[in-house]
Amino acid sequence: MALRSDQSTTRDSREKITIRNVSRSYGSTRALADVSASVAAGEFCCIVGPSGCGKTTLLRAIAGLDDPDGGSILVDGDPIAGPGLDRGMVFQEYALFPWRTVRGNVRFGLDRPACDCPDCGARVRELVDLVGLDGFEDAYPKELSGGMKQRVGIARALAPDPEILLMDEPFGSVDARTRDRLHAELLDIWSQTGQTVVFVTHDIDEAVTLADRVIVMDADPGTVQLTLSIDLGRPRERTSRDFVDYVARIRDELGSPVDDV
Ligand code: ADP
Repeated sequence: MALRSDQSTTRDSREKITIRNVSRSYGSTRALADVSASVAAGEFCCIVGPSGCGKTTLLRAIAGLDDPDGGSILVDGDPIAGPGLDRGMVFQEYALFPWRTVRGNVRFGLDRPACDCPDCGARVRELVDLVGLDGFEDAYPKELSGGMKQRVGIARALAPDPEILLMDEPFGSVDARTRDRLHAELLDIWSQTGQTVVFVTHDIDEAVTLADRVIVMDADPGTVQLTLSIDLGRPRERTSRDFVDYVARIRDELGSPVDDV
């Protein structure tokens, strides 16, 4: 099988996110060094690499939660200026409000979280239903499993109907079976919403399972090593020859078993 690699960062009309020469240092640590990449509209893009290669820093910069020292990030060709409702974020450690119910947490993601009009109520019900939590609207986070908490996080991020969904190792804390189910559900939601997804993971298998395209990063300093299109249908069979070839290609690029880092 020919594995296509794509080093191009030239903006085209389908480009949703443009990352141009972004650098970010923390003291002497160069978390990102001249990183350029792009994500097409409607694309499911995974960023994979070992711990400390700058994945979270890059995602936070796209979210507008962190200011790079140099370079720029554009959405639809316009430089971002801080966080915006066009970009929803799902955090690794759920980041739910423990004193709010499922309904309350999801409602918080709405443009007008305090609004209790019928439309907002219907939107919350729709989101709870979308992530498979109907019947749990009145439960508190401490009553939920890790997978259920992350479903709440996804529903909350989707609440304002963002065009871009940013996900930072969202399934890192759930067991393997739950993760498989969440992968299928996430791909289902993505196919319904058509959002542009940027999904950070250190797990190569997870990246090849989900992505249209994988951005492979390396550490010290954080750089883009390779951008690889995953030309496989879905759902993907992890034991298939082509799947294994993609995983091996990324692992070779990194030169170390990322999953163990
Ligand atoms: P990854 O998500 O790939 O694990 P990060 O983006 O979290 O990597 O971190 C990249 C590098 O920047 C690491 O060396 C990390 O220790 C450092 N770093 C990240 N955030 C901070 C911070 N707030 N203060 C100091 N160093 C940081």
